[in-house]
Order: sequence, then C-alpha cells, then structure tokens
Amino acid sequence: MPLTANNPDRKSWLHVDKNSDFPIQNIPFGVFLTRDDIVTIGTRIGDTAIDLGALHQLGYFEGIPLTDDIFLQDTLNDFIADGRKTWRAVRNRIADIFDSNNKTLKDNKHHKEIVLFRLDEIEMQLPVQIGDYTDFYSSIEHATNVGTMFRDPDNALLPNWLHIPVGYHGRSSSIIPSGIPVHRPQGQTLPNGADAPVFGPSRLVDFELEMAFITTDANDLGEPIPIKEAEEYIFGLVLLNDWSARDIQKWEYVPLGPFLAKSFASSISPWIVTLDALEPYRVEGPKPLKPQLEYLQFKGKKSYDINLEVSIRPSGAKETVVSKSNFKYMYWNMAQQLAHHTINGCPINSGDMMGSGTISGPTPDSYGSMLELSWRGEKPIKMKDGSERSFINDNDTVIMRGFCEKDGTRIGFGEVSTKLLPVFKRK
Ligand code: MN
Repeated sequence: MPLTANNPDRKSWLHVDKNSDFPIQNIPFGVFLTRDDIVTIGTRIGDTAIDLGALHQLGYFEGIPLTDDIFLQDTLNDFIADGRKTWRAVRNRIADIFDSNNKTLKDNKHHKEIVLFRLDEIEMQLPVQIGDYTDFYSSIEHATNVGTMFRDPDNALLPNWLHIPVGYHGRSSSIIPSGIPVHRPQGQTLPNGADAPVFGPSRLVDFELEMAFITTDANDLGEPIPIKEAEEYIFGLVLLNDWSARDIQKWEYVPLGPFLAKSFASSISPWIVTLDALEPYRVEGPKPLKPQLEYLQFKGKKSYDINLEVSIRPSGAKETVVSKSNFKYMYWNMAQQLAHHTINGCPINSGDMMGSGTISGPTPDSYGSMLELSWRGEKPIKMKDGSERSFINDNDTVIMRGFCEKDGTRIGFGEVSTKLLPVFKRK
C-alpha cells in the first residue's frame, strides 16, 4: 500500500504553524482525556487534537477493516496489534480527511465540534500499556565516554560491545508521560573513600537523552525475527528521558547491571511518530568497526536523521540548551536491536518499548547525559541565569525535543518535559 500520507505537497485545511512538529505529513498517534473526561485515541495536526474514536463513529474510516471500538480504548495496544497495513490505511485516510481539497469534514460544523479539540482542552496520557521495557546501550560515543571515566581510557569499550547490541530489561511500571513530575530518589551509595555504604537522597540525578521504539506483536516463543523483517514490527518512536541516579548506579550495577538507579522513572513524549512518517529521513549509520555476526548484518539505510536537543529550566528561570545530538549517531540500529533481542526466541508483544540508550554525538556539546556533559562534575555547565549545573537540581525541569527536517518538511516529536521534585516526604 502506498504511503500517500507522506506526500510533501499536501496542505491541511487545519492551521499549521510554519515550525510546527505536526504538519499533515506527520499524523502521530496518542491517547488523551477530552474536555468531557473521556479517554480516546487521537492524532494531531498543528495545534489541533483529533478524536479518532469520534471520527470512526461518524463513519470516516468506512472501507478500512477496523473493529467498532478500536479507537475507544485507553491504550493503542490493540490498534498497534492490527499491523502495518492497518496503520498505513488509517494514516492515509486521516491525511485525506484533512487535505485542503477535501470539504467533507471541513464544511460539517457539527462533526468538527465533536472531533476537534484545542490542546488546552485535552490531557495527554501514556499512549500504550507497556508490557516490557528494554533499554539498550547502543551509542559508541556514550559507551566510550562512560568506559573512559569509570574504567580505562585505553580499553573504554568492553570486549563484547562491538559484537552485541548490549541491553538490559528495564521496569515498565514507572514509565510516565511528559508533564508528570518525578521525585529525587533515595538509595544506597558508597561515598568516595568509604568502605561502607550510606543511605540518603541521590546527589547525582541525571537525564539520559534517548529515543524509544514501540513494537507490535512480532513472534511466538522460540521464533527469532530475521533482521530484514525487523522494521515491519516497529510501530513508531517517542522521545525518552531515561532518568538515572549515577551514585546509586555506581554502587549497585555490578554484576547484573542497572537496577534501582534507573527504575524510579522513565519519561516519554506522548505522541508516537510512526516509522512510516519517518521514511523520508532514513540515512546511513556508522560503519561497523568490526565484522558483525550474520544475524546482525543488514542492507540499506536503517538509521534516521532526527535532531535532538536537551534543555534545563531552573525554577523560575529561562531554559538553557545543554545538548544537541542526533539519533543517526547510534552505532547499533533498531533492526539490529530487535533481531538481537529475539535471536534466543524471546517473544515481543504489542506495546513493548525499546530504549536506544543514551544518544551521545562525537563532540562535547552533543553528549546525551550530564555525566558526560559535565565530565563527572569536573566541568559544570553554565546556565543562562548564572547558576551552574553538574547534575539536575531539585525543581529543575528537563526538556527534550526532537525533529526531522528535509526539503522544507519538518516532522517532530513535540517534547518530553519533566520536573524533578525534592525527595518524597510522607505527610
Ligand atoms: Mn538508558
């Protein structure tokens, strides 16, 4: 089925600002609470949210095989499970309904009142029920920086790193949408020079600039996904701030990897931008530095040119951009990650989420964490209000943004914005 929704010449009859992340070529999917307190599945064009449940009930998806209640749900899991053919048909139809040449909905005032919402009338929810969350470690710059700081600059990458997309199983119960604040976690840390740990608030709370992909039902137990099919099972991507407590992490991570230093919160942007919408922004990724085993070898462009940016907004002050990176720097791509994840026969379900790992670029201003940007706190970052940051302070808000741009069309993710609150206190 052709991807007519991506036609760069199409204009919408809905207003779209020039620098909007959400032109009619985007058509992301999300879940929101409406002004009438109803949860529905929707999309967004410009600054207008569109109730897909209402559109479906009014017959606008006629001819596409969809169950009656597919958009009247709290999550996108069932829609995602319908597969790529259905996602594509629905995106194409939405593009058609809102095309400036189509007057059907445009001239139906009553229908528009039911279907369209201003952004201040809705509240974005988590788009999917995330059954399983896996986080990779796929940026060579990030892995090299961390290895240089904590182990040995001459052997910064561990021997497995150039052969395996390294990952760990994360925690899905603490994944939250943009806008939900996070408390500074407490835990065990080992102060420098001490021989016993202490308990208290983490002093090194950090962000990790990541993207995450959301999967559909992919395989049965025991069945690996071949790398050439892997992208068929990727619905779309979100921005991910994988909150980390570096001091807790340093003490706990040996030998099984991160645990409580990561599971206190992971924040995602609420609109899932489909892999279909990102099709025009495919690029070559980094060349492998060592031969990769056959199940990880791929053909074609499997990386995506997505500009990424992180800002910190201190309480009551203006935000300061602290990092500019790009998703295309990832050494291991999503197809390799999914092929590797399933090579042992582990099943992947609709609504699973896979984090890329911190996305650091080659230059010091493109690093994807404060750990790297401030180089373990040795080089604090100057903020616009004159203060300095080595890590994240109480009441700081961390904002991540991402967008693709080519030939005058811009497709973006909006933002994931999260305030760090002081340690939780029982009332
Ligand atoms: Mn991470």
